[in-house]
Amino acid sequence: TEAWGPDDDEPRRHHGPVRVRVPAKINLHLGVGPLRADGFHELNTVYHAISLFDELTARAGDTLTLTMEGEGTGTLELDESNLIIRAAKALAARTRMPAYARLHLRKSIPLAGGLAGGSADAAATLIACDLLWGTGLSRDELADVGATLGSDIPFLLHGGTALGTGHGEAVSPILARPTTWHWVVAIADGGLSTPAVYRKLDELRDSSFPPKALGDPDELMTALRQRDPAVLGAALGNDLQPAALALRPELAAVLEAGQRAGAVAGLVSGSGPTCVFLATDAGHAAQVAAGINAAGVCREAVTARGPMPGARVT
Ligand code: ATP
Repeated sequence: TEAWGPDDDEPRRHHGPVRVRVPAKINLHLGVGPLRADGFHELNTVYHAISLFDELTARAGDTLTLTMEGEGTGTLELDESNLIIRAAKALAARTRMPAYARLHLRKSIPLAGGLAGGSADAAATLIACDLLWGTGLSRDELADVGATLGSDIPFLLHGGTALGTGHGEAVSPILARPTTWHWVVAIADGGLSTPAVYRKLDELRDSSFPPKALGDPDELMTALRQRDPAVLGAALGNDLQPAALALRPELAAVLEAGQRAGAVAGLVSGSGPTCVFLATDAGHAAQVAAGINAAGVCREAVTARGPMPGARVT
């Protein structure tokens, strides 16, 4: 679709429906700095977008409405607290447009799973409403609007594999030879609150046996340039994992089931409780997923590939 008209400088409005697909993210490396006086932790992370998608459809309307189907329907609030509504309003405020749209979410990314589903939906909303309203912002401008709502939103606009610093909102793409990595995603029953996991980490770090912190992702960056799953597997790491395990001890059995099923490596995704496992190829991933499912330790293990592009019109 042409975003700009041929004879004018004004971005052209789209009559809709505009359909946007957005991936979930995992963190190949999640280094969490010490708690700062402002209550934040400095992050050093490597984001990776995988083939587990939400889809947001935007249609012209004379108010702002949101409906949904799929994961979390009946649980997820569709009011002003929803990141989709907040993203539409933030874009409208930035572009001085009325925030009018009929939005519909088809959700596959589990809620509070450590896969940044809410941020993904916000990124999809920014892309969809920008096209529907003809506001013509660049991806970087949309990322600035998104960063005010959530640290993972700029990455979900860009996708691929990228380094995240600051609170995670400062994103720089990692240019590596195109390689597809194969993953198994073990989806848990129920979510984990991200702030609670960070609080638990601070508590563990104040104890007599603090977990060792990861620091910079140099090893991971080097591993990404090679195409060897064993090398990448050895470099994966997540500072939040001990905290997620402390809050949800059952996750140890999930990680163990993945190892038994022959995964190259496994770790908690972000703040959890989703666990992700690296496989050597698509067939191996299917085999690892089947092994984890047979162990009955999580709601469902599914296969996924990465890296995937960020939020895109379909
Ligand atoms: P993160 O790792 O970014 O904290 P997460 O994957 O653990 O995210 P999300 O599903 O992104 O968790 O969202 C966590 C909470 O955000 C939800 O429990 C819900 O209360 C709130 N939320 C607001 N809007 C949305 C949305 N569109 N989708 C999911 N959660 C949303």
